[in-house]
Amino acid sequence: MAVDNKTLFESALLRRLHSLLLQIDDLEGQLDRGPRQIKAGESILDSCRDAVEAAKQNVKDATIACDEKQLQLKTREDRIEGLKAKLNTAASNKEFDLLKEQIAADQQANSVQSDEILEGLERIDELNDAVTAAEKDLAEKTTEHKKRVESVENRMAVVQADLDHVRNELVKAEAEIPAAARSEYKRLIEGRGDEALAPIEDDSCGGCHQTLTTQMVDRVRLGYLTHCPACSAWLYST
Ligand SMILES: [Zn+2]
Repeated sequence: MAVDNKTLFESALLRRLHSLLLQIDDLEGQLDRGPRQIKAGESILDSCRDAVEAAKQNVKDATIACDEKQLQLKTREDRIEGLKAKLNTAASNKEFDLLKEQIAADQQANSVQSDEILEGLERIDELNDAVTAAEKDLAEKTTEHKKRVESVENRMAVVQADLDHVRNELVKAEAEIPAAARSEYKRLIEGRGDEALAPIEDDSCGGCHQTLTTQMVDRVRLGYLTHCPACSAWLYST
């Protein structure tokens, strides 16, 4: 049976079917985007959490370095005290001078070390400020994300309701398809979705832009089920 030649088809029905299929495609696309938007938001939060952790680690590292320097300073101070005590019991001028030199060298080293410790403490203050800033950023982004999730979820609920409605409309419209063409319609839709149907635009197929013969255009106008010779879409007039 040549469905093409015999089945009369209202272009209005094909147009409605196509429009519903396109709407479903669009709404399904919106439903897919929702979780992706939420995921993108979550990865922003992950980066913020990483930034907080990195900032805290910087404080930890700088604190350890500073503590080590303070320990070295204290050790050297103790040694200086020890050297000073030995000054009184120096057996010779030479030993006395040597002790004096050692004390001076240690004092010089500790003076440099003190400056470094002060700088280190300042640096730790700055790094703590960076932790505070990173935590603030995380808190702000978390609030933003909560709002984003809420708005995406609200929108998804609306989109889902629309989708249910449009799918319902599609079922109704599909029931109007002439019985002889129904199985072919199902086969085409399953294979190509909304691309299974195409409007005639300026005497061409709206799906693939193949130019159609006048005869074909007329056949579609008369309601004969007609496929595009290039992409096989069912044609309908607009
Ligand atoms: Zn085509």
